[in-house]
Amino acid sequence: MSSSPADLVREFHRAFGLDARPTPTRVPPELAAHRGELLAEEAAEVAEVSVGGPLDRLAHELADVVYVAYGTALVHGIDLDEVIAEIHRANMTKIGPDGRIARRADGKVLKGEHYVAPDVSAVLRRQGWVPDGV
Ligand SMILES: [Mg+2]
Repeated sequence: MSSSPADLVREFHRAFGLDARPTPTRVPPELAAHRGELLAEEAAEVAEVSVGGPLDRLAHELADVVYVAYGTALVHGIDLDEVIAEIHRANMTKIGPDGRIARRADGKVLKGEHYVAPDVSAVLRRQGWVPDGV
C-alpha cells in the first residue's frame, strides 16, 4: 500500500463515501464552501500550536492540513501531486544560474531574475480541466 497522501486520502474518501472526481471540475458551491471551512479549521489549529504547542500537536495539525488539502483537491478532481511538482519547479528557479539566492531581511527566499512562475493552469488543463468560458 502506497503511503502517498493522495492515495491515503483517496482510500479515506472511498471508505466513507465522500466526493471524489477523476478530472478537475467545478463543484457545487455548498461543497466548495464546506471544503474551504474544513481547511480553515485545520489551518487555525496549526496557528494555535505553532508557538509553544507541543511538537506532537504541531505534527498532528500539520498532517491534518495536508490531509484535508489533498481531500479538497480530490473533491475538485485535482491531482495535487502534479500541482506541487509544478510549484516546486518554479520555486527552484529562484536560484540563479550563478547559484545566488536573494533573501528578504526575515529570511524569505525572493524571486530572482531567472524565476519562472508556476503554470498551474497548464497542469490542470493536462489533467482535463476546461476553464470556464472556453
Ligand atoms: Mg486538526
